[in-house]
Amino acid sequence: MAGIELDREQEDVKLAAREFAEREIPKFSKSCDEREEFPWKLWKKASKHGFVGVFIDKKYDGRELGYFDNALIWEEFHRVDPGCGFAALGTTIGAETLELNGSEGLKEKYLPHLPKGEAIMAIMVTEPGAGSDVAGIDSKAVKEGGYWVLNGTKMFSTNGSIADYAVVLCRTEDHGERYTRFSTFIVDLKSDGIKRVKLRGKLGMRASDTAEVHFEDVYVPKENLMGKRGRGFHHVMDFFNRSRTWVAAQAVGVAQGALEMAVKCAREKKVSGTPLSNFQAIQFRVAEMATEIEAARALTHKVCIAIDRREVIPELSAMAKWYAAKICMEVVDGCLQIYGRDGCFSDCDISRFSRDAKALEIYEGTKEIEKWLIGRKILGV
Ligand SMILES: Cc1cc2nc3c(=O)[nH]c(=O)nc-3n(C[C@H](O)[C@H](O)[C@H](O)COP(=O)(O)OP(=O)(O)OC[C@H]3O[C@@H](n4cnc5c(N)ncnc54)[C@H](O)[C@@H]3O)c2cc1C
Repeated sequence: MAGIELDREQEDVKLAAREFAEREIPKFSKSCDEREEFPWKLWKKASKHGFVGVFIDKKYDGRELGYFDNALIWEEFHRVDPGCGFAALGTTIGAETLELNGSEGLKEKYLPHLPKGEAIMAIMVTEPGAGSDVAGIDSKAVKEGGYWVLNGTKMFSTNGSIADYAVVLCRTEDHGERYTRFSTFIVDLKSDGIKRVKLRGKLGMRASDTAEVHFEDVYVPKENLMGKRGRGFHHVMDFFNRSRTWVAAQAVGVAQGALEMAVKCAREKKVSGTPLSNFQAIQFRVAEMATEIEAARALTHKVCIAIDRREVIPELSAMAKWYAAKICMEVVDGCLQIYGRDGCFSDCDISRFSRDAKALEIYEGTKEIEKWLIGRKILGV
């Protein structure tokens, strides 16, 4: 189902993404999950076919299609495989805030490589001692002549060990209001003083790279400070307001893919000689899951349309991300239940989907943080 009505161009984008995903992603999904390997060839091909970073302006070699079309593509890729979908499309992570807050020079230098599949980006906020509490970070940047000198450790950075450059949040001020003590930098990750360690043993989304990154006296040119000094915290929030749209789309795609698998299973699998699909309890569960997916998709599309109209509503982004990830977890669990024992083994795709789904309730804001934000906005606290 399509959710909010798509125009002709959007139908074409969605169909092209579906065809590409169904044709190309299965070649990588199982092996990249097993080996925790980034699907390099898939990323290159997805970029060549114009699916990567479609929200980036034409001026910087993107397609300027906006967040709605971006979400359509993310949904289709994740419907086929969450880990490979995230790995291939998540290579532009951080470009959202660079495009909004970067100087013309930074945007011209760093953005055009992303949609062309020539470079990979990351955003590094989380640290060993600070996750949800973004303002609790310790990484520091100190001004020295024409440079900022960065020291600190970032954790759980998507693309951390493979990215070419990253948005890095650092503390730049010792005094002032809590949320104005930070700045963001675009850091070339090949600079001296950077050590990167790929994290292994992730529950799901294993095709996507996650790393720990150490900065020791890393000299960053002063012009790589993004936007205004002291606005770093706000740049990260700007990022979340947008990135939560593609997490919501991921969740809708994962749930949709899982439901389609479970429907096939329910039609084929017989219990006491009767296909599972004939049992009313199964029909009810499928009805509930399909309805929940449709509701999550509508909410996701709504927030994307708002952002494309330049109406950024933080609580709406949080609602879409929280609700879509929540129903995704429930749907994937319900689908695995339909598979029964077969779903408990790794050769069954639904087992991989069930591992992949959990991260959606954690990154770009945990479900508790989403609800906290929504509740505070509604109550005016
Ligand atoms: C696969 C993956 C990819 C990631 N990619 C990136 C990335 O690219 N860049 C990056 O910077 N980070 C990334 N992260 C980190 C992610 O953003 C953090 O895990 C997330 O922000 C939560 O932080 P935490 O894990 O430290 O949890 P904590 O903040 O320690 O929270 C632990 C638990 O307590 C709850 N909690 C915390 N505060 C409150 C509160 N005030 N009220 C109620 N409950 C609360 C949380 O919801 C959570 O359930 C990634 C994580 C994963 C798993």
